[in-house]
Amino acid sequence: MNHEFFKIISRVEFEALLNSFAAVGTKKVSISDACGLVLGEDIISPEDLPPANRSCMDGYAVNARDAFGATEGNPAYLECSATLKVDENPDFELQPGECAAIPTGGTLPDGADAVVMVEHTQELGAGTIEIRKSSAPGEHTMLKGEDAAKGDLIFQAGHKVRFQDVGLLAALGIKDVTIHRKPRVGIISTGDELVEIDSPQKVGTIRDVNSHTLRCLVNDAGAEAVNYGIVRDELEKLENTLEKAIAENDLVLLSGGSSVGMRDLTVQAIESMQNSEILAHGVAISPGKPTILGRAGNKPVLGLPGQVTSVQVVMLALVVPFIRQLMGQTNAFSSTDRVLVQAELGRNTVSKPGREDYVRMKLTYREGKLPLAEPIYGKSGLLKTMIQADGLMIIPADTEGFYAGNTVNLWKI
Ligand code: AMP
Ligand code: MG
Repeated sequence: MNHEFFKIISRVEFEALLNSFAAVGTKKVSISDACGLVLGEDIISPEDLPPANRSCMDGYAVNARDAFGATEGNPAYLECSATLKVDENPDFELQPGECAAIPTGGTLPDGADAVVMVEHTQELGAGTIEIRKSSAPGEHTMLKGEDAAKGDLIFQAGHKVRFQDVGLLAALGIKDVTIHRKPRVGIISTGDELVEIDSPQKVGTIRDVNSHTLRCLVNDAGAEAVNYGIVRDELEKLENTLEKAIAENDLVLLSGGSSVGMRDLTVQAIESMQNSEILAHGVAISPGKPTILGRAGNKPVLGLPGQVTSVQVVMLALVVPFIRQLMGQTNAFSSTDRVLVQAELGRNTVSKPGREDYVRMKLTYREGKLPLAEPIYGKSGLLKTMIQADGLMIIPADTEGFYAGNTVNLWKI
């Protein structure tokens, strides 16, 4: 043993420690590059959108009062005073008893407050239009400022920009926004037994899986992965690679060597960094207990379990949200980014109290019923439990498990 035993803390306590790290810096980018990144500034609407009342339909702009109560049997008759073009800004006011032909997207003249669809009208000649349907103010119109009113706070700093948000920014003429840059995440695999994936299979060696799965997850989270390859279980080599990775990245992930065995050197390597500290060693989740959080200067270093499945679960449960926090996202640990699926549990599933369990689950679709969810058991050194899983079922630390027939929420993976 090279270190005291784990000082295990809860997942919530671990998250609180992660929360103390500041987000990475910001820069201005074109909105076409902002999708998936997190705003570093509040966005205030510079104008009203739409800038005036606009029609949602091809038809006639009316004052709703003039068409109120109209039916097929008892139509209203209005005089068509203008035929508007889609790009026209009307410079007249509609008078009582008048209407104006208007295309979809066209601007309503003053005096008009609704549009009657062309399907509910009939041209009678000599400019008279028969209106066969009642109208109400605002009907088939987009009101001035309905998408965004001038001065509205439309997005807050910490908001992750989505494609639809880019659409609103474009409509408002906002070309550039301030976002947090992508964090750089260094990835190091450790272990004397590890070999590159192009090595022939040989008993006693293990191809490096974690560099590759971690890279995918880091990229998915929206960060930039930087791989540092495989480092043997030799303190000096590990220290050298870790030092370089810390200097070049915003976060460093090591996998393997995070437990308390003879060759588990992650704690020592982190402790040997300048101005460093181990903040946590052990988190009460399963799989994933041997997880280390350290700090070198102001940079976070995470020592993750080597077991291929454990490290994947820790990545999903803690590291991916942490990366989003480093990207500036508000409430990264309690966001609705996780997709939950309701399912019926197919069999009793027990869990040891005192740790939060992430049970790998298989889902089976059933017509007209909730899908059936069954646990997949297997050692965390095997890849297949995650391969077969459609989701994870979280059994809280204070719960002994769930019964067959219970409706459960699965976190889709
Ligand atoms: P450790 O945490 O270093 O004791 O590793 C636990 C188990 O995970 C051992 O069986 C390692 O061989 C395995 N392991 C560690 N790192 C990797 C990796 N990058 N790829 C595949 N297996 C690994
Ligand atoms: Mg090892």
